Amino acid sequence: MAEVAHDAQDGFWRPPAVVPSGGASPARPEVCEGCGTEFMIASRFCHVCGTSRQVRSVQVPVPSWTRYLEFPHIKEALGLPLASLIAFIAGIACLVGALSVGAIYAVQNFADFQAIQLWRMEWLLGAVVSFLAGILLKRTNSN
Ligand SMILES: [Zn+2]
Repeated sequence: MAEVAHDAQDGFWRPPAVVPSGGASPARPEVCEGCGTEFMIASRFCHVCGTSRQVRSVQVPVPSWTRYLEFPHIKEALGLPLASLIAFIAGIACLVGALSVGAIYAVQNFADFQAIQLWRMEWLLGAVVSFLAGILLKRTNSN
């Protein structure tokens, strides 16, 4: 690598910007703490002295409302124990299923109507069972 560097132009291997040693502060992670050289883009080590770069966590812009969808946040907001929360979510899913039965299947004749009502009753029974299970699990956990 060094023999290649001899043939290169003078300024090619020179660091892009040399900052005085006092200028290397933690507020500027793009500058090497060992020699004050500016890091190359996306490099993990200093290309001059080999010091490892302190990679800071990249601040990905996350919308603030997505943290309300995180499971621990939901659990904390509802104040339910884990088993009750799972039963509650299952009950909500069953309610959504009961509501979507009428939207998905179109009634053609009386047999279709009966079948749709039967499916709706089954979904609602599932929701009732899930909510009851959630209530019972919450009572046993709180006592
Ligand atoms: Zn360095």
